[in-house]
Amino acid sequence: MSDNIPGFSTLAIHAGAAPDPSTGARATPIYQTTSFVFDDVDHAASLFGLQAFGNIYTRITNPTTAVLEERVAALEGGTAALATASGHSAQLLCFHTMMKPGDNIVAANKLYGGSINQLNHSFKSFGWSVKWADPDDLNTFEAAIDDNTKAIFIESLANPGGIVMDIEAISRLAKAKGIPLVVDNTMATPYLCRPIEHGADIVLHSLTKFMGGHGNSMGGIIVDGGSFDWSAGGRYPLLSEPRPEYQGIVLHETFGNFAFAIACRVLGLRDLGPAISPFNSFMILTGIETLPLRMQRHSDNAKKVALHLSGHDKVKWVSYAALPEDRHHALQQKYMPKGAGAVFTFGVEGGYDAGVALVSKVELFSHLANIGDTRSLIIHPASTTHRQLTDEQKTAAGAGPDVVRLSVGLEEVEDIIADLDQALSG
Ligand SMILES: *Cc1c(COP(=O)(O)O)cnc(C)c1O
Repeated sequence: MSDNIPGFSTLAIHAGAAPDPSTGARATPIYQTTSFVFDDVDHAASLFGLQAFGNIYTRITNPTTAVLEERVAALEGGTAALATASGHSAQLLCFHTMMKPGDNIVAANKLYGGSINQLNHSFKSFGWSVKWADPDDLNTFEAAIDDNTKAIFIESLANPGGIVMDIEAISRLAKAKGIPLVVDNTMATPYLCRPIEHGADIVLHSLTKFMGGHGNSMGGIIVDGGSFDWSAGGRYPLLSEPRPEYQGIVLHETFGNFAFAIACRVLGLRDLGPAISPFNSFMILTGIETLPLRMQRHSDNAKKVALHLSGHDKVKWVSYAALPEDRHHALQQKYMPKGAGAVFTFGVEGGYDAGVALVSKVELFSHLANIGDTRSLIIHPASTTHRQLTDEQKTAAGAGPDVVRLSVGLEEVEDIIADLDQALSG
């Protein structure tokens, strides 16, 4: 064996996978089974008692999903990972493992809209609260943290405004307070940014977006950075105290630097249940094989489209971190120098009506509420996702009447630009 360390594109294709030992199948098979036969009674007992690794039931582990988990852990530079049914369920299981009633999360106020809803409303019913901080003013994070804060939650690259967050500075704050930094890396993917290298303790993804990349399968994942001390101060009892359902084992003691991923699986996923289907794991694994090629093309196409729109007489402004004059450009150069991803917003001359006209006239672009497809996607938030808000609330959320969001696809960039030009004209 050579001691060459495989590069990113090699890991994207090979990490976690090997030819199937019984059939020789080269692609990872879809293990479409709910359950797995035990060797004997002792084997079953050791699996249930967490003394041996192995498969019992697809809600908890599955061989196709295990390849996906190992691959994403390798791409992010983590110790282990847990795949789930969706990005939102990854967030649920992650915070379930850290929080008890009365605890709070300090979160960046520029997050995916669905995450803002999850934190503001549904998490409340578990007795968890959220305190919002401004990623452009780090003092607001420090001011928000109190004795019941159990995590800081940010996005590396925020959806939709092309905001790049200062992961290293926020990680220093988290470390000083003894709490983990959780980073949603959905929009950047590990090809553009690897948050663990900048001090993140946990990385989350909606695999539904760029990781799968083809707009056909839902999934999520929790990557354990392996760096956080879950036993210090006894503040994370699910990890640091004996588990009655597993003969009193202490998860952090037993599983060390991948204890968080294990706890999310054997407590959260086992009991709350949002397992990914083996078929979706297979689809997402297939997508990940071309992640480096796709993300580079997404970023290159998006930059060309953003430059074109910046000079367009029907466009008021463009917000995209790869543009040299953008206020997040320096952070983009530091954290994701290969590119700023596919998604950005711009303001259309003529406000609300012009935004509605644009999404009605595009032909190549699809008008829908998603990002991270091979296809180019467009949405006018004020008339769709943010419709229920007042004009003031819309503007505060970055969804003012003139805002249009693009997720630039992998088509020929000339065709993408031509479609926008025809839809903006007249
Ligand atoms: C889509 C998305 C999510 C939620 O993921 P689902 O797979 O839709 O549950 C979370 N964070 C970001 C940044 C997203 O874009």
